[in-house]
Amino acid sequence: MSQQNYIAYHKPSIGTEEIEEVVATMQSGWLTTGPRTMQFEKEFREYVNAPHSLGVNSCTAGLHLALAALNLRKGDEVITTPLTFCATVNVIIHVGATPVLADILPDCNIDPASVARRITPRTRAIIPVHFAGLPVDMDAIWTLARRHRLHVIEDCAHAIGSFYRGWPIGAGNPESGAQSDACAFSFYATKNITTGEGGMVTTHDETFAERMKVLCLHGISKDAWKRYSAQGQWKYEVLEPGFKYNLGDIQSALGIHQLKKLPRFLETRRRYAKLYSELLGGMAELEIPLEKADCEHAWHLYVIKLNLDAITINRDEFIALMKERGIGTSVHFIPIPLHPFFAPYAHLAQNQCPVTMAMYPRILSLPLYPAMTEKEVIHVANEVKSLVRSVSKTTTLAVAGGR
Ligand SMILES: *Cc1c(COP(=O)(O)O)cnc(C)c1O
Repeated sequence: MSQQNYIAYHKPSIGTEEIEEVVATMQSGWLTTGPRTMQFEKEFREYVNAPHSLGVNSCTAGLHLALAALNLRKGDEVITTPLTFCATVNVIIHVGATPVLADILPDCNIDPASVARRITPRTRAIIPVHFAGLPVDMDAIWTLARRHRLHVIEDCAHAIGSFYRGWPIGAGNPESGAQSDACAFSFYATKNITTGEGGMVTTHDETFAERMKVLCLHGISKDAWKRYSAQGQWKYEVLEPGFKYNLGDIQSALGIHQLKKLPRFLETRRRYAKLYSELLGGMAELEIPLEKADCEHAWHLYVIKLNLDAITINRDEFIALMKERGIGTSVHFIPIPLHPFFAPYAHLAQNQCPVTMAMYPRILSLPLYPAMTEKEVIHVANEVKSLVRSVSKTTTLAVAGGR
């Protein structure tokens, strides 16, 4: 297949609005954190219904800041999911705590019952990940957190545009008053909105917000920083060794316009996901992603599960054959226990995740992004179907819905 017709796994949607705003930023003379980041922070916290927001240069930085602000100590345990990007676990190790992996549900999200079984007197926090943009059962997580006095930091890298029980991820549950300590979002190139690289961390706790802000910029006291930037004063005080995690105005120039386009992006993602599910549902050789009645999926990823018993090839071969057919696919994620960095923990009973390990060889992410055309979505679905048929152990022609 020619490169021209190749359907890439991902392509960003950057328009003239973003380009013109970046140029205007460069002409303004203010390149680092300034007025555009302040505007983006404000519009973002209004979108997710949280009173405090801090622009950061990645979601990883946001997760690290939130964990650092919890003042964890060596020996403290933080429970998260094994089906996530390595960053979620790396930051736990960076603050000196011990990562503990809970298993997942068939919908690929962390299983609150498994979390409950992992809680020990050393547990300090839970980091749920809203996998693919499908919200975690947060009420169950918040109930556990309240009962055991645990912190909750949400990894919202996939969840820009996700709604849990009527509220955007980031808002908590205003009806019950339950909230997480912080929520970290990603604007990485492939995410639902992008600044190239970037992120945002939101919280409902003013003190926590101030602490993250100090840690975000070298540990320089907020008042000193204000005087420094507003009045051009040169004096500042470093209160603790912080990080360099701020989001600059060139990135925020992109973010301001991406956020404006988010409703349109989400509408397209939902429409394409529905189309995939209509075209691929009911086949014996694969399962389509699960949804939840009380949640709105942000459809960051469209992950199918192959029924390996029903086909003659494995997932890796499936990916290679899709590539031969001119379609890029991906896998989210290689489970944490399979990475060498996690080897010292992988054998421990507290990190055994049989559901995840059985899921991993079956999962495959199809291309899904607003820059795709509907025709391309239909083409991808047809290629998946035709490939599946060619490697099916049984003839699926007679299976209901498997036309
Ligand atoms: C992308 C991603 C991150 C990291 O986001 P960055 O902005 O690249 O740091 C963290 N967690 C998950 C689940 C992700 O998919």
